[in-house]
Amino acid sequence: MQVYFLGTGTSQGIPVIGSQHSVCKSNDTKDKRLRVAVWITWENHSIVVDCGPDFRQQMLNCGCTQLDGILFTHEHADHTAGLDDIRPFFFKQGSPIPVYGHQRVLQNLSKRFDYIFENENKYPGAPSVHPIEIINGQSFMIGTTPVIPINVHHGHVQVFGFRIQDFAYLTDVKTIQDEEIQKLKGVKVLVVNALREESHHSHFNLQEALDFINLVQPETAYLTHISHLLGFHEEVQQRLPKNVYLAYDNLKITI
Ligand SMILES: [Zn+2]
Repeated sequence: MQVYFLGTGTSQGIPVIGSQHSVCKSNDTKDKRLRVAVWITWENHSIVVDCGPDFRQQMLNCGCTQLDGILFTHEHADHTAGLDDIRPFFFKQGSPIPVYGHQRVLQNLSKRFDYIFENENKYPGAPSVHPIEIINGQSFMIGTTPVIPINVHHGHVQVFGFRIQDFAYLTDVKTIQDEEIQKLKGVKVLVVNALREESHHSHFNLQEALDFINLVQPETAYLTHISHLLGFHEEVQQRLPKNVYLAYDNLKITI
């Protein structure tokens, strides 16, 4: 399995528009972060998790030529606003793109992108999706591979993380129950959000993310959904435990 970090930034991305913050003005490419998403490929599958406003640029950056589905974590704009840009995949593949999400998320998307979800009298240039509901507590199959949804909370908003084989991806987590943590036991690679050092009402801060990694005990962990307030990539990386890495845009890992 290959995981490609399409974006590792928090909702505004880094640099933030108009910001004079030193991290936003950094010349280090690792300090440039598009909105959070990953591209996961294994066997003949090509899946992205979330489809935020940077989706088009991300697909160009990673060279993705086939999209078998989008797993949605939740409905916030930084995770969904790029949905219209599935058009090239839809035109090329000729069939609706499977989109997986909580019923609430699919409903939300079908309101915001009604022209994509409707089946009749479609505008000829509109893409189509095949909505697939993710039910809490039930794994689902992509090909012959089970995907285990992990139920977490982002303040008051329910969010799904995903475990696929030895890989787990959790973003926008603030709280998670013990029984969900059990579903992560034995993962080799864990990706989890770490916004900044200061606490936040709906995101793990750095210490909370490190404590969580300690509970799960993966072989390797990567931090994502990063704010410019966390600091410069190189400086923060030096302070992390030896099996924990700050993810950065266009990082590829093999599991
Ligand atoms: Zn987010």
